[in-house]
Amino acid sequence: MKVRKLPPGLVSRIAAGEVVERPASILKELIENSLDAGADRIYIEIRKAGRVLIKVKDNGSGMSREEAILSLERHATSKIYSDSDFYSVSTFGFRGEALPSMATVSRLRMLTKSNESSAGTEVRVESGEVLETKPVACTTGTTIEVRELFFNTPARRKFLKSDAHENAAMKEVISRFLLAFPEVHFEVVTDGKKKVFPPESLEVRIRELFDEENIIEVNYRGNIEITGFIQKPGSSRAGRLQYFFVNRRFIKNRLLTAALYEAYRAMLPKHRHPLALLFINISPEEIDVNVHPTKIEVRFRQEKEVLKELVEAIRKALYPPRADSKIITPVTRTIEDFSSIGKINTGKPEVNEDKAKYSPEKNLEDNILRGIKPLAQLFNTYILAEHSLGLVMIDQHAAHERVLYEKFLKKYSAGKIEKQRLLKPEVILLAPEESAAMLENIEFLENMGFEIEDFGGESIIIRTVPLFIGKMENFKEFIAEIADAGRISDINRRRDEMIYRVACTGAVKAGDFMLEEEMKALIEKLRRADNPRTCPHGRPTYIILEKRDIERKFRR
Ligand code: ADP
Ligand code: MG
Repeated sequence: MKVRKLPPGLVSRIAAGEVVERPASILKELIENSLDAGADRIYIEIRKAGRVLIKVKDNGSGMSREEAILSLERHATSKIYSDSDFYSVSTFGFRGEALPSMATVSRLRMLTKSNESSAGTEVRVESGEVLETKPVACTTGTTIEVRELFFNTPARRKFLKSDAHENAAMKEVISRFLLAFPEVHFEVVTDGKKKVFPPESLEVRIRELFDEENIIEVNYRGNIEITGFIQKPGSSRAGRLQYFFVNRRFIKNRLLTAALYEAYRAMLPKHRHPLALLFINISPEEIDVNVHPTKIEVRFRQEKEVLKELVEAIRKALYPPRADSKIITPVTRTIEDFSSIGKINTGKPEVNEDKAKYSPEKNLEDNILRGIKPLAQLFNTYILAEHSLGLVMIDQHAAHERVLYEKFLKKYSAGKIEKQRLLKPEVILLAPEESAAMLENIEFLENMGFEIEDFGGESIIIRTVPLFIGKMENFKEFIAEIADAGRISDINRRRDEMIYRVACTGAVKAGDFMLEEEMKALIEKLRRADNPRTCPHGRPTYIILEKRDIERKFRR
């Protein structure tokens, strides 16, 4: 495609705004241009946090002499021609604004050569004025150097933040491209320090950039395609490393983040977060990228559908289909790190047949919890069990909570909670905020099997209770918990929290003695849970002391 000026009518419809406010935004525009030009090798050089130099060199399509000159004019682009293109943009750029904007606030030098031209072209621009255009010898591709940024606009120069800050912002920009284009060779030289990123799988790039081993793949095909990697169940991070890409464009979108947390509901400890790198592939007609000057936001034409599919895609990865027990062969491979369950590295276990249904994660889970025999109860709190891999320690309360939580959630969703009528209705006197919370959540409580009436003042009458609640003492404890959870404003979370509290109330406590039969039954139920690894609040339900480690401790 050739560079040409956009017609004025189209120009007026482009979301206007400054695209080169700081070094990181310049770097972003330059890398995007290289990728749009089809480059698979990109060299980046930064000096003094971009104040002295920002340089990007690529092996893309390059430009002819005429195109090179035109590209520095406002609203000249090779990427869209007409109105209809405007609705199906598949390149990063389409506004023809970035290069001319950079050229007005720096000393810019461009070296470029297209495949068809025999010689390259060098163009030097200062404060937007072309100083020199001459032929040069160079290879196919484009190099752009932006020197002395804002040398002619001291006011904007003053707005630059500390070097550390600007460098961090550029590093972030580079990371996003490293992740979105793992097949591209990147070289980054920052103040003389060089880092090379050869073409790699996305998985390897993630491990390198974030030092995170606990990831699982997302690979979903519905109306849209969603791929990437997310945090493995049972593990989490203190910080939020969450990247969303739409057609490989990094974007920020509150709703996508909300969908991510929705998918991880009842799997994360408080104040912990899942890593996520998710790529949404969608037909360009289904999105609008022309809503923000730096295009960091997109609008989905069918937002609800996209969110629904995103949750589904993540859940499919988090809760893979169970492997049929008959097709699992025992785990014979080595397991790298067993010190915490979240770190299990499963390698590739063998399966006899039916690969489609097979899931290494679930298999390992099944394998660990299947048929292990409880040896003893430790501190009346942990069930100790033997497995060929090591000593399994199960937190009896966390495990039971998980089991009950899933059971109640299923029953509640199906409207099938059994209730029992009390022989004599109970009148309960509550603290004012407790009775308020009960009455506010009366519908939820009814669905949970409680028939409750306002008895006036601070008392309520209870006519039925769910079967699972057991003793009436449990109920008083439950009310205090509900009063607490009732303050949560997000309805889904509140419902979840309440069911969690019910599960917590009903679960065997730490310190409760358990019979061998009870321990056996609990292990079996945990094995059958959808997510046996964590309690509903994300604490681990079991850990393994690896046999290897035991032997090491005994110096065997
Ligand atoms: P846009 O990317 O929105 O089209 P830019 O100002 O970033 O606008 O670039 C203007 C034009 O210059 C592009 O449309 C493209 O044709 C050309 N161009 C810019 N950078 C490169 C590059 N690295 N390789 C080849 N062509 C480029
Ligand atoms: Mg561009």
